[in-house]
Amino acid sequence: VSADPDCLFCKIVAREIPGDVVRETESTLAFRDIEPQAPSHVLVVPKDHLASAAEVAEADASLLALMVTEAAAVAETDGVDGYRLVFNTGAAANQTVFHAHLHMLGGRRMGWPPG
Ligand code: AMP
Ligand code: ZN
Repeated sequence: VSADPDCLFCKIVAREIPGDVVRETESTLAFRDIEPQAPSHVLVVPKDHLASAAEVAEADASLLALMVTEAAAVAETDGVDGYRLVFNTGAAANQTVFHAHLHMLGGRRMGWPPG
């Protein structure tokens, strides 16, 4: 499936609902999280509707790699010192949108363990 009509992030990719887009490639979109958990909090998504990081990796390993390099590029642009990349996977891990998205969080001291 390349787009799911009921999916929030498919709608942002299609520009049907607004997103604060910071970077775009042919196959990925990066936009600011609407409820930022750090001074710099960006989501990098594949344009195709894939539910999880594992599905992205299975569909196209280079697409997963591109999501990581795009996240790094945003971190560089935002000038953060260090950053954390997170894929929440499954409801128990607080995945709320079932369209794969890589969180890039930076600009503050990130605690460990994450809690
Ligand atoms: P997760 O809990 O990993 O599924 O992350 C979903 C993220 O999407 C959360 O951090 C939300 O704040 C974020 N989010 C929800 N709606 C929007 C939106 N319209 N634009 C940008 N980010 C959003
Ligand atoms: Zn989707």
